[in-house]
Amino acid sequence: MYKPLCIAAAMLAAQSAFAFDNQLNHYRLSIDKDARRAHVEADVWVEGRELALFNVMPIAQLKNGQADLIEKLTVRDMAGNPVKLQDKGEGEYDVDGDRRLRLSYDVRLEHDKYQWPGGNEEVSYHTEEGLMSVGYPLFIVPGVKMHGQTEVSFDLPAGWKASTPWRSAGRPGAFIAGSRRELVNNALFFGTARAETFQAGGVEMTLVMGKQYWKRRDAFMSMIGTQMNSYQKLYGRGPVADRFLIVINQGDSGDGGAFSGSFSQYLKDDGSEVARPVWGKVMAHELAHFWNGHSLVPKNESEEWFKEGVNDYVTVTTMARNKLLDRSMLIQQLENLARGQNVARNVQGLTMTVQEAVKDKHRNWLLVYGGGTIAGLAMDVELRKASRGKVGLDHLLKAMYQQFGHPGKTYQHADIVRIGKAVGGVDLEPLLQNIVASSKAPDLGPLFRDIGLRLEQFGMLETYLLRDPAATAEQKARFSAIFGVPY
Ligand SMILES: [Zn+2]
Repeated sequence: MYKPLCIAAAMLAAQSAFAFDNQLNHYRLSIDKDARRAHVEADVWVEGRELALFNVMPIAQLKNGQADLIEKLTVRDMAGNPVKLQDKGEGEYDVDGDRRLRLSYDVRLEHDKYQWPGGNEEVSYHTEEGLMSVGYPLFIVPGVKMHGQTEVSFDLPAGWKASTPWRSAGRPGAFIAGSRRELVNNALFFGTARAETFQAGGVEMTLVMGKQYWKRRDAFMSMIGTQMNSYQKLYGRGPVADRFLIVINQGDSGDGGAFSGSFSQYLKDDGSEVARPVWGKVMAHELAHFWNGHSLVPKNESEEWFKEGVNDYVTVTTMARNKLLDRSMLIQQLENLARGQNVARNVQGLTMTVQEAVKDKHRNWLLVYGGGTIAGLAMDVELRKASRGKVGLDHLLKAMYQQFGHPGKTYQHADIVRIGKAVGGVDLEPLLQNIVASSKAPDLGPLFRDIGLRLEQFGMLETYLLRDPAATAEQKARFSAIFGVPY
């Protein structure tokens, strides 16, 4: 009885007008010759009634954010009849959906005339050699759910090439995005800038670089390869995505934005050897997000400290082990942690906990990033103390990745504590309460003493980590084991 009923239900669903037609979605994006305007023609299955431009950020000059740069939006059914569209503002549109619809619209490519909260490297900008854009401001997509895969093709100015993290559709200039997230949550580059494709950490990397960086490509590729291999080893396997795009251009903020299979990086300087610990760390942090952040995903935003801070801790420790940060640069990084908490609590006067600080991440980044990094160091030290040096944070991260590093899975605070107990036999909850659930700066003296360092702090800024004359052999050995550099 069970089976026939089931088949009947499936047949009913298949006959319903609302059933997905199992066709590829298509987006064709044409960029005009001076890259000031893009025209998009699309056909896409729309479940429900909502079309959306995601990740819209309203700003003073554009009250609907990126959606104010969309023009001439029209929707038709597949027979060509107009379909009524209601613009609800901030990139949300109401349409009569549950069918395949044709969209047509223009995008004014003027995003770089405005200041965006996360920086232009997370939205769109022009260079002498072309245009970087994230997918979000370009693609209006179904708001509820996007079924099936999407073929994306481009019409570009003469001599331009599209660099994307998507797989090829089998002909030049055409790609397949596997999901809505892959379509919109990625950086893309269109233009004449040179690109290099190579294997690193089990994935295919494509590096697009502004021309001032091209002569330094070997240094970039070497740093990327070294760090990617370390992350793959630490987490036990590659990230969920198997193909990445990195776009590097000059920009004074020096910031980067990480997406599901790509990141967009502004560098302040020319990528010189002397500044490698600086640009290298920014890039290594974004690369590490392919694991912690995009493959290992928190359920709640209160674990942002783990995504950003513990990720930064992994970045610093692996760079030190790979000799990309020398001892003095490493000590400066650690001093910055102590200085940062003092500034956040006593100069900025922040009173929220590290967990709550995510609510205003840009203002509170010293807490989210710095507080989270301190939590990473404290967990590492605690695990090593409890296991006589046999188990550290690497083991916890690897075990978390085994359990939660799969599409659709998310972890919570309690999972970190549970896995810490399983791998190291120690309860990490009391130290986490003290660091991430407290509204005061933790006393970092004992933590640094455990790695052989004496913290001296006075005034607003003066912060020194000195070799502690009373350090035990065990504490000194712990320092070397964590960072891979002589005590
Ligand atoms: Zn980050």
